[in-house]
Amino acid sequence: MPELPEVETIKRELEREIKGRTIIKVKNLDAKVSKDSPISLEKVKGRIREIKRRAKLLLIFVDSLVLVIHLKLTGQLLYQKKLQKDKSTRIVFYLNRGFLVFNDPRRFGFIKVFTEKQLKDYLQKVDYGIEPLSKKFTLDAFKKIIDNRETKIKQLLMDQSKIAGIGNVYSVESLFESRILPTRTAKSLNEKEITTLYKALRKILIKAIKYKGASVDTYLDLYGKKGKMVPFLKVYGREGKPCFRCKGKIKRIMLGGRGTYFCPSCQK
Ligand SMILES: [Zn+2]
Repeated sequence: MPELPEVETIKRELEREIKGRTIIKVKNLDAKVSKDSPISLEKVKGRIREIKRRAKLLLIFVDSLVLVIHLKLTGQLLYQKKLQKDKSTRIVFYLNRGFLVFNDPRRFGFIKVFTEKQLKDYLQKVDYGIEPLSKKFTLDAFKKIIDNRETKIKQLLMDQSKIAGIGNVYSVESLFESRILPTRTAKSLNEKEITTLYKALRKILIKAIKYKGASVDTYLDLYGKKGKMVPFLKVYGREGKPCFRCKGKIKRIMLGGRGTYFCPSCQK
């Protein structure tokens, strides 16, 4: 599933590519994608004013409305100069120049249309946690999140109501970087480990944005290109392969229903 760096990559590309353009019409090819939208997708017309990201959500401000897009497992948002639909194409936005296409083979992703007031209420209800690359995410803020919790550290990192935008890939990568086992409880981390993990999280997220995300599954950027972060992943998807640090074998276990990768010898 695309995480913060992947969604941020698309956000930045959207900003460069389609901000200031106009949505002329919307073709909704699959009602499921927008079934929970309070305003119909066809109402979205006008100038694209602003692009934002909150957690794993893309927010596209169009005239007085806001498109809220979640890619979930297999969603892709693509900019095309010439329209190239395929069988996973769910929605097409016709722009004054080019097309914005939402593809989603497995159809878990969604698009909702809100007024700005509705968006505010929605975000309040969903209650996302702190943005890990924002100024608010200080070491002290991270310590408050850890706060003696019994939760396993990996699951805490992935808890969207605590820290927004971190998923399976960047949680295991930052734990490897910090030499902390994903199965440890948050409260078992000492001061030094908390500081190391805090720094590792930010460092890895920033690096992943620089490389336009990790295409571990179907993720593509706005131009249909794969992200370049995968070669830099140290544990994710590397079960049975040698650890880059100690040459031990990378292990995969299930934790909270998610495949979790780590090095049993150099993570403690
Ligand atoms: Zn190792």
